[in-house]
Amino acid sequence: MVEIHSGVMVNGETRPVNGATPLKEDFIKIPDVASYPTGSLDFLLKLQKEEQKRHKAMRTSNLLNQDDFSRVRLNTIIVGAGLGGLAAAISLARKGHKVTVFEQAPELGEVGAGIQIPSNSSRLLLKWGLQPFLASKIVEPEDIKFRRWENGAVIGLTKLVPEFQDNFDAPYYVVHRAHFHDAMYQLALQLGVEVRINSKVIDYDEDAPSITTEHGESFTADLVICSDGVKSIGRTKVLGGVDQPPLRTGFAAYRATVDVEEMKAHPELVELLAKPGLNLWIGDMRHVMTYTIAGGKSFNMVLSHPDRTDPATWNQQSPDKVMSDMRAHFDGWDPRLTKIINMIRSTLKWPLVSGSALSRWVAPSSKLTIMGDAAHAMVPYMSEGAAMAVEDAAALAEAIDLVGSTKELPEALEVWEAVRIKRSSQMQEASLINGKLWHFADGPLQRARDEAMRPEVEGKQFVSSPNQWSDPTTQRWCYGYDAEWEVRKAWENRTPKAKLVNGDVKAL
Ligand SMILES: Cc1cc2nc3c(=O)[nH]c(=O)nc-3n(C[C@H](O)[C@H](O)[C@H](O)COP(=O)(O)OP(=O)(O)OC[C@H]3O[C@@H](n4cnc5c(N)ncnc54)[C@H](O)[C@@H]3O)c2cc1C
Repeated sequence: MVEIHSGVMVNGETRPVNGATPLKEDFIKIPDVASYPTGSLDFLLKLQKEEQKRHKAMRTSNLLNQDDFSRVRLNTIIVGAGLGGLAAAISLARKGHKVTVFEQAPELGEVGAGIQIPSNSSRLLLKWGLQPFLASKIVEPEDIKFRRWENGAVIGLTKLVPEFQDNFDAPYYVVHRAHFHDAMYQLALQLGVEVRINSKVIDYDEDAPSITTEHGESFTADLVICSDGVKSIGRTKVLGGVDQPPLRTGFAAYRATVDVEEMKAHPELVELLAKPGLNLWIGDMRHVMTYTIAGGKSFNMVLSHPDRTDPATWNQQSPDKVMSDMRAHFDGWDPRLTKIINMIRSTLKWPLVSGSALSRWVAPSSKLTIMGDAAHAMVPYMSEGAAMAVEDAAALAEAIDLVGSTKELPEALEVWEAVRIKRSSQMQEASLINGKLWHFADGPLQRARDEAMRPEVEGKQFVSSPNQWSDPTTQRWCYGYDAEWEVRKAWENRTPKAKLVNGDVKAL
């Protein structure tokens, strides 16, 4: 721990510098951490983290380390082997808990598209030991370029390398979802997690707690964690039978990939591939987010556009109709972009939905919880949906780690729930706000926005920006967030309802 003192540290005590006898009265203590938003203590925090990393590296290079195990060890069930469920499986297994994951699908996997892993998530994943499973697959983009819809002119710029590693102690990655998912699965297996596929959960008993699968089998645990995605059935259970599903936004996204080799044949596209980077074209009610994945072999695209039709009717449309609609939405945009869109051979259309803060994530029994998209679906405009699930998972394992007895678990889960509802609902809000900031039609609002982003493009100093990746306040809140530390802080600052005396909980 780095401490700030007004004297000289000798054997852990502060001695006055001039040799005078210290006064016996109490002096006010200078806090080690600030409760107000500031970056002025960051250099101390950095030293502290480097010290912790050195310590850890000296202790062991094993994935599982008994020193990291929690005092209370639980038998846990996780429902859903998506990125959220696997993140929870890893974070809990690392702490010595028994983990069984139930997944409805007959085989594991993810859709064939890309995903961004922002620093607030990569910091946790690297700490968990994911690097060796992912190293050859990830791309670390140098920057994010906001481009004007009609000609691709750069109107906003966020530098990621080395800024994000330097400022937030973790890189910003992009990766193929299938590679990310497989890396998480391999790590979970190495940590002793059991994953049961073909196991659709159809019912929960929140008091036992237990789950029942469609094959009629029931399984009991100490804690059931439900990470079953946007259409969660666990959420209804936690909310006492009345679901609060995410709402439609009136927008949908086409997802597609294009072969980079094919793009290279067109000289005007080479600039877009020269360095690994994210390119985001923004215009009237639409935007296109792109980056290369699969070690730079595949160009990933997410094309957001207004769509108020019923998603249930989408699979009745022929692939040709879907493709021609997609092209029509971006007709007249930057010729380089439309050239790439014309190279798309197939696409998937996704409805974009968003939830808002739920009243609870933990059932009254304190033995059943929801997390991930089941708890906080959001539009993908901050690229933080899966990152929130990784944070949920890390924070959950940390909350359980804080208790000395199972009797304290309800309180720890309550603290976790409060911290995570606040953080994820703010991210839902930030994601929706990006939709507002990016989708102006040409006119005064668009011109004012572009003007406000100009300093970052020109390399001048700025204190705010409509680009939320660059805006210093949003950046710090979004990428500097330490999910484990936030839970510890909330636990320490809570008003305890009970106290642990000789291993037993006494009400206060
Ligand atoms: C276009 C788009 C782009 C995105 N880009 C990003 C990005 O760049 N970065 C980012 O962090 N996030 C991004 N996201 C969000 C991210 O994809 C999701 O937040 C994340 O995948 C959610 O993971 P999850 O595990 O909570 O849910 P899911 O991935 O939905 O997983 C749920 C799992 O539970 C299983 N399941 C469901 N019901 C049952 C049941 N009854 N029994 C057993 N199993 C069950 C499902 O089969 C599935 O495997 C994006 C989303 C979209 C739509």
